[in-house]
Amino acid sequence: MRSVGQIVAASGLPRHEAQRLLEWATGMDRVAQIAHPERILPNEQATRVAALIARRLAGEPLAYMLGEREFWGLAFKVGPAVLIPRADTELLVELALERIPREGATRVLDLGTGSGAIAVAIAFERPDATVTGVDISAGALSIATENAARHGANIRFVQGNWFEALADGDLHSAGAFEIIVSNPPYIADGDPHLLCGDLPREPHSALVAGIDGLTALRAIAARAKAHLVSGGWLLLEHGFEQGAACSDLLLAAGFTAVQTWPDIAGLPRVTGGRID
Ligand code: GLN
Repeated sequence: MRSVGQIVAASGLPRHEAQRLLEWATGMDRVAQIAHPERILPNEQATRVAALIARRLAGEPLAYMLGEREFWGLAFKVGPAVLIPRADTELLVELALERIPREGATRVLDLGTGSGAIAVAIAFERPDATVTGVDISAGALSIATENAARHGANIRFVQGNWFEALADGDLHSAGAFEIIVSNPPYIADGDPHLLCGDLPREPHSALVAGIDGLTALRAIAARAKAHLVSGGWLLLEHGFEQGAACSDLLLAAGFTAVQTWPDIAGLPRVTGGRID
């Protein structure tokens, strides 16, 4: 029979992951696990922990197993229908918040909202903003709706392909925004990076965008202007090698004040521009 300490040490997983799964299966938290590594689990619990460790070792993302991931200090429901929120994407939220006054019904659009993490974080920080989240996936929108409810965020969710679900060009309609944000798919089809970490189990449509990874960024950049008011901003997350390409797309689409910002690792991650 193995003790809690031995199960964690022999799991083959990073210690914090084994501890998290053990906590989830047994209710014994990390502090208790460290204080009592000699504790022996009842057989039924030990079997459950072993099965969870095996699933994780086989590549199932920890966030999908737990059904939850933290983003912007908030707990988000996640599952195989949505991309797992990344800490890097908090940069996109920060840049959006810098452009949304604390008061006033600023209209914000989040394209490809997925779990709703970006839209919910913005709505949470700016309760007066009017936030719309668009996604083509019904499965994603159902999770996003739950996340909005969980955090008391009043968000309008619309199913559709980027801007297609919205009224076109009419600045007095639901199609006009002060801020458009997006973390679209931006990895090139066949990129070996797709075999790394959690990516093989995440939705392909949330990750991959054509042979150069720019299909979605191109489509959004080309049509965003028609949906922005004068002075409005478009902020796009992209791959660490796509800063220059993204700037070119925004400049070609008539944006000014085009700039790229680095993520927490110092890599170019978000490019934005304004419509004058
Ligand atoms: N940032 C993610 C990754 O490279 C990709 C997310 C995306 O394609 N939008 O792991």
